Order: sequence, then structure tokens, then C-alpha cells
Amino acid sequence: MVQSLDRSQGRAGGVATGSANNHGTYTGNRALQIEEPLIFEMGQTGRCGVDLPEPPKVKERLNGLRRKGTIGLPGLAEPQVVQHYTRLSQKNYAIDMGVYPLGSCTMKHNPRINEKVARLPGIGDLHPLQPVSTVQGALELIDSLAHWLKTLTGMPAVAMSPAAGAHGEMCGMMAIAAALEAKGERAKRKTVLAPESAHGTNPATAAALGFVVKPIPANDRGRVDLAALKAALGPDVAAIMLTNPNTCGLFESDIVEISKAVHEAGAYFYCDGANFNAIVGRVRPGDLGIDCMHINLHKTFSTPHGGGGPGAGPVVLSAPLAPYAPYPWIVKDGDTWRVAEDGAKVEGAPLGRLKAFHGQMGMFTRALAYIMSHGADGLKQVAEDAVLNANYVMAALKDVMSPAFEGPCMHEALFDDSFLKDTGVSTLDFAKAMIDEGYHPMTMYFPLVVHGAMLIEPTETVAKEDLDQFIGALRSLTAKAKTGTAAEDFKAAPLYAPRRRLDETLAARKPVLRWKPSNNPPGIDPLKQAAE
Ligand SMILES: *Cc1c(COP(=O)(O)O)cnc(C)c1O
Repeated sequence: MVQSLDRSQGRAGGVATGSANNHGTYTGNRALQIEEPLIFEMGQTGRCGVDLPEPPKVKERLNGLRRKGTIGLPGLAEPQVVQHYTRLSQKNYAIDMGVYPLGSCTMKHNPRINEKVARLPGIGDLHPLQPVSTVQGALELIDSLAHWLKTLTGMPAVAMSPAAGAHGEMCGMMAIAAALEAKGERAKRKTVLAPESAHGTNPATAAALGFVVKPIPANDRGRVDLAALKAALGPDVAAIMLTNPNTCGLFESDIVEISKAVHEAGAYFYCDGANFNAIVGRVRPGDLGIDCMHINLHKTFSTPHGGGGPGAGPVVLSAPLAPYAPYPWIVKDGDTWRVAEDGAKVEGAPLGRLKAFHGQMGMFTRALAYIMSHGADGLKQVAEDAVLNANYVMAALKDVMSPAFEGPCMHEALFDDSFLKDTGVSTLDFAKAMIDEGYHPMTMYFPLVVHGAMLIEPTETVAKEDLDQFIGALRSLTAKAKTGTAAEDFKAAPLYAPRRRLDETLAARKPVLRWKPSNNPPGIDPLKQAAE
């Protein structure tokens, strides 16, 4: 496609950049910021990166269904493919590039030793259908990680297979539903209580399982309103789903009283453990009276996340819920590890299977490497440093930005948008301006209970000088916004990113999920091909 090479005209294929070459360069590139077409707009049909032999002639066996046209795949040589994807990767912000303050997500550094261990041939080359006698070490690895998770949480059992936090919620709530069923109470206990600040996955999980979700308000200290909670408890309540530390970055100081009240009402306490990073090694959730909790391995024990995974969300279970842990169970008979698959006899009543095979082996390996390289003392320091870093940010910004709640925070510093009042600058504009300063923005507009929320989570590994530069950038943006004359500049941000401000509402409501060539050259229209 000749026109795709004419970069001075902006991108062929109609990606509206709004900035197509007004940079004054011949190529449209800005130094190392290289304009990148879609792979379908590059190369030529017929070009191939490998030298394949002519396929042997075979007898037509498809009864006339054989494709007649060309397949319509991009035709590029290997170096072109490598360059394309490398350039694309450089447009992405990553935890390995700088401060990644995305609150609630706990973007942790992933130590390279984890990767090395996960790639050992005895681990990286495993196949889940190998005979059990050949994977004894892998099963022991899963059991070792399970042991650490039980020890760190003070809980007697753990279901390892859930593939993410939300999947773990599903597992834990299914165990609660099964326990209620066994007591003959499932039909009458239809309500699940969730604080208004809850992560969206909590009410979604409860609703998906057929529960009715009842929101519990927060008090003016950002914690669950205990009186409102007690008033909502009754014989219709199956469980509460509570995050601790909560999504406002605060420790639920009434948690022991909450768990007592929940149990007295005959309900279960589901704890969302996504924020375990802030208390790991310091607090055992089991001591607080919870019944089950998912652990996002990717938010506490490193392992890469973002871009959709893979994560891992093992769920620790109390003794009454342990029998319902899903298959498979990893059990030891004498010296031999065994995988109790669907239908196998175990000491319990497993709720079925949540996932193919045994769980996210690569993530288990990375998490165990992280845990063992830190040791118990190191994990405790992780929590302490995470809380210290967040409080450093909070202390350094609270005179110019507006903290949502008074007092120290846990692992994330939460601000509302009142410091931007009358400046014409919104939380979104402020976040976009951070991109021009070279930062991935913090989490915006979550939790919903705080107006124009900005949730900053610096994680424990960010060095002080890097935090100082980040703080300096935010203080400078704050000062600029408060001049009252900079709204236009903020609305124009980001200026230096590969793409300018996008219409995010339109993108969400009317996503364009298919590329169509603007000028269909014969033979390489993949859509036409599909129709033929
Ligand atoms: C991240 C998160 C979840 C969901 O976890 P995933 O692993 O993304 O499915 C649930 N609750 C809270 C509070 C979270 O931060």
C-alpha cells in the first residue's frame, strides 16, 4: 500500500491523530517518537519473512470450501516485524520505566530473579498433562506457596486455582454459598453487604451469583459506618464483602467488631485482599476474624500484571469453608504428591472446578521466588516501606492538594479535587498533564465516594529521589492550575504523547474494533477475504 509509506500525510487507514505531521519533519516523526502505522498498512502482499517450500499438491477434500483468494495477512520481512512491535512497545508506559502510581492496582517491581526461576526448563517447559510422577517438584512448589499464603494470612486452607482477584472473589463467594446451602440457609440469605467504596468486582461477583447487593455508607473518616452496617445485618444477609485496607487507602479500624457483628448475625465475612501488600507480614487477616480472602499474587508478591494478566488469585479459607475449595486439590500420600481431580474423593465437598488444570504455574513460581528471596522479615519490610512511601507523598502534597481524609494513610494517598475548585481544571485534565511530565497518571475518579478522586500508590520500591521528582512535578502542576489562567493548557494535554487527548467516552461507547483499508487494493482486503 503505497499511501501508507507517505508518512508526511499522516497515517493511512484514517487514524485521526489531530496532529498528523505538524511537527515540521519530513517523516512525521519526532526524534525517537516514531509514527507507527498498523501492521496491515505496512509491507507488501507476497513478501514473507521465511522461505517456505512449495506445499505439495493435495487432493481437494474440502468439497469446494477451499479459499480462493489470498489470505490477506500483512507481508513483512522479519526485521520489519521486529521493528514494528519494538516501536509499539516503546509507546507503552511500564513499571520498568518509572514511577507508576496507579492506586488500587499496586504496580510492583518484578524482580528479575523471578523471571529466571520461572524459565528454568523443569518449570518453564512443564505441560499440565504430564504424568503426575514427572511433576512431583511442581506440585511441591504449589504446596510450598500454599503454605506461605496460609502462614502469612493465619488461615487453615487455600484454594490455589483462581486466575485473578475477581476470580478469587467468585471462588470465595461460591464457597460461602455452598456453606449456606449445606445449612439450608441459601434461600433465605440473599443479601450481600458491600461498602460504597468497594471495588466494582465485589458487587459484580455477588450479583453474578444471584445475591442482592446492599451498599453500606462510609463515615466521614472514610471507614465503614459501623452503625449503618449493624442496622443492615439481619437473617437475610449471607455475607459482607469488605476490603482492608480499604479502597480509600485506610485501615478499617473497626474490623474486629465488624467481624463479630457479621458472625453474630449468622453471615460470613469475605475480605477483599487486593491491598494485602500494605499489611503483609504485619497483620494476619485470619486474626481479624475473616472467613475467606483472595490474594492478588500480582499485587503483593510481584509477578507482572497489567494489560489483562495473567494474574493469580488464590483464596484462603476458614475451617468451615475449607471443605468447599474447588478441584483440583494437591494432596500428599506418604512421600508422593497427587492431584485430586474432579470427582476424586477428598475430605470435603469441592464446589467443582473453576479453571482448567492447576492454576497459574508461572505466577506461582514467581510469587514463591519473591517470597523466598524476601523472607519473613523482608515481607514485613515491604508493607512498612509501602506505607511509608504513601505517607511521604501524602505529607509532601497535603498543603497544596486536598487529602480526602484526615490523618495518615496506609499504602495509597487519596486526594479529592477540591484544590482544583474554580481553576477550570478537572481531575482528568490534571492527570493528562502528568503524562507530559513523563508519568503514568494515578488512578482517577475511584473510589466513587470521593469527588474527583486521585488515588496515588507509589509502592515500596520507588526510591526517595524518584518520589521527590514526582512530588515536584505534581506541586508544579498544582501551582500552574491555581493561577486560574492555565485551564486551556491543561485541556490541551497531553502535548508530547504519541497521541493527543482522545474522546474516551466515544471510544468506550462506539469502539472501533475492526480496521478497514481506506482504499481497498485488490487481493489484500482481509474483510473481503473473510466474506469470500
Ligand atoms: C485489583 C482489585 C480487584 C480485582 O483483582 P483482579 O486481579 O484485577 O481481578 C478487586 N478488588 C480490589 C480492591 C482491587 O484493587
